[in-house]
Amino acid sequence: MNFIAPTPDAPALLTPIPALSDNYIWMVQKNGHAIVVDPGEAGPVLDRLTPGLTLEAILITHHHHDHVGGVQALHQRTGARVYGPRHENIPVCDVPLGEGDLVDLPGIGLRFQILDIPGHTAGHIAYVGRLDAGQTALFCGDTLFAAGCGRLFEGTPAQMHESLGKIGCLPPDTLVCCAHEYTAANIRWALQVEPTNAALQARAQDTAQLRAQGLPTVPSRLGLELQTNPFLRTGLPDIRAAASQHAATPLNTPLAVFAGLREWKNNFK
Ligand code: ZN
Ligand code: FE
Repeated sequence: MNFIAPTPDAPALLTPIPALSDNYIWMVQKNGHAIVVDPGEAGPVLDRLTPGLTLEAILITHHHHDHVGGVQALHQRTGARVYGPRHENIPVCDVPLGEGDLVDLPGIGLRFQILDIPGHTAGHIAYVGRLDAGQTALFCGDTLFAAGCGRLFEGTPAQMHESLGKIGCLPPDTLVCCAHEYTAANIRWALQVEPTNAALQARAQDTAQLRAQGLPTVPSRLGLELQTNPFLRTGLPDIRAAASQHAATPLNTPLAVFAGLREWKNNFK
């Protein structure tokens, strides 16, 4: 009988692959296996699949074309299984998922838990998992952005507010892996809401530096989002005051503040 000694776990490599105009396709690599999240196109992923690297899974957060445009080609070329939201129409979906489901990926040695986070789309899901000991990563598509959140194309403010509240309860050191590079524009708006927030001011500088070097501003940490992202701060008096003033009407609940902020951001140039 042969015994194969277990190889020590290599650290996971987490990479945002730029795609389309401002999308990121997230790739995780470990143990000679890779997974990608929301491949809006196939080319940039295929470019990175060297002969020693097997694409084990394609994870989809929601049905928008800039997140699924590369799924069919990648699935055909690699045979990787496609996981996606149960309540949305995805071009290929081998494993439909919803709240509480677990995704076990033995090759790469990762396990993800599914959260339903409707709002941007009606069936949007997120993947939460540990990359390495203790390090949680969240793949949240177009729901939580760095210093912002997704537009409400299919859901209500109440749904999005609840979805963001769910995300806000994850560990503060969670890596927030969102699907777009919108950070600089989001911060420009967030500074209108909270001009005196020192953490936000510092983040504006850090972000400007990264972008000047052509570097991604993500992943961010959930703790930083809780300090600087107005959409996660709807219960704070200063935010309520700013949103109420902008709406020219008193906004008396965190949900009303959220809806006011979303309106404000929609119209911000
Ligand atoms: Zn979207
Ligand atoms: Fe998108």
